[in-house]
Amino acid sequence: MYSISYHITRHPISLYLAANMNPGYLAFYPVSHEAPIHIPDVILRLTELRLLGSAVNDSQKQFHTGSDFLQLITFMGCSPAIPLEKSDTRNDHCTIKFWGPYGSPQILCGSNTRPPRCPLCRHTLLTWKEETGTPTNSTIDCPGCRRPIETRTLNWRQLAGISQLFMTISQVFPGEAVPVDSLMRCLEVDGEKWDYCYIQDPILLQPITGDSVS
Ligand SMILES: [Zn+2]
Repeated sequence: MYSISYHITRHPISLYLAANMNPGYLAFYPVSHEAPIHIPDVILRLTELRLLGSAVNDSQKQFHTGSDFLQLITFMGCSPAIPLEKSDTRNDHCTIKFWGPYGSPQILCGSNTRPPRCPLCRHTLLTWKEETGTPTNSTIDCPGCRRPIETRTLNWRQLAGISQLFMTISQVFPGEAVPVDSLMRCLEVDGEKWDYCYIQDPILLQPITGDSVS
């Protein structure tokens, strides 16, 4: 059920994949990188919306699904198999987790992430991992149009995201589920635009400016 491309299988962290039964994450993130996001406010709004349920292990960063979860996330197909109830034996039910906020923009990608496209000439940056390195540079020289491209403006085709804050929903296969408008409006109520993408384990989160993670 996992799809791993040829250029990803060489990556050593893909070895962890077999130990995790999570088919993937639906990941939300604010895109402007300008307005500071206050996570407790976002959590309060999403709790009132009943996307979020109780906290996992008293964590204020990870939550069980709320009572209206399936009204706020639309699953394709007639019978979604998403496990909403907590399992005693394995931590493989659906949870919602917050990452950050970080002091600088991070790129969130996974085993399913494909090379991005240049927003100017649509050239596919096949060697983006080598070009971006670790930590990822904030600009990439596009071999197609020879212009410097801001990493955050690359077209990741919903298979990676760049932000200082992420909210991931586990147990979602890529493309299987989409948010309804009322969930996006709730996220964007203070004027910040949010977007979403699909990520499969292992998650890789790294800074794109060279600054250390706060
Ligand atoms: Zn280009």
